[in-house]
Amino acid sequence: MSKPPRMTDKQKLGLFGEELVVRMCSCPRCKRSKTLKRLGPNFKCADVICDFCGYLAQVKTTKKSSVERIPSEIAGAAWKPHNERMSAGIYFPLFLVLVNECDQRNYAIYYLSADLQNAGMFQPRNPLQKGAGREGWIGFRYKLNSIKTSFVQLATGPSTKASTSALANVVSPVSGRLPTRTPTSQPR
Ligand SMILES: [Zn+2]
Repeated sequence: MSKPPRMTDKQKLGLFGEELVVRMCSCPRCKRSKTLKRLGPNFKCADVICDFCGYLAQVKTTKKSSVERIPSEIAGAAWKPHNERMSAGIYFPLFLVLVNECDQRNYAIYYLSADLQNAGMFQPRNPLQKGAGREGWIGFRYKLNSIKTSFVQLATGPSTKASTSALANVVSPVSGRLPTRTPTSQPR
């Protein structure tokens, strides 16, 4: 009996991130809103396009315990098409969507422009082993440690705003009051 085609959790998460970017982000190049559109799964190396100016970008979505910190590394896609473009000096801007692993309404969208990227931040993985379904396929990962500070936060989710404003209350330079929150470094 054949199973109906269903999206994996990974595909669902990717779609969720792309839809957030399309809904919440203006085009970084022409600055218009609601012009970014999803490209669909068959389009290599880019996930969204601006239907006004033709701008292309990638969207990577990953679940994390904290959406406030850029992770040290995230999974990329196929190495070969990526490497071919990199050899030709072609880099795509990146939208990074971090989603809280317990609360989908707690998310943050970050942006890294193409000119701030370098070949060193992309690392090929070992080829897939026999029996993995795509034997010999090589993926890559993004190593983000050296460029963490180059990311710009563009948008946050409804639950994230609540936690951010609570944090802003503590660190606000205009409040003139010392933080009232107890330190988190207490011995357990
Ligand atoms: Zn545009």
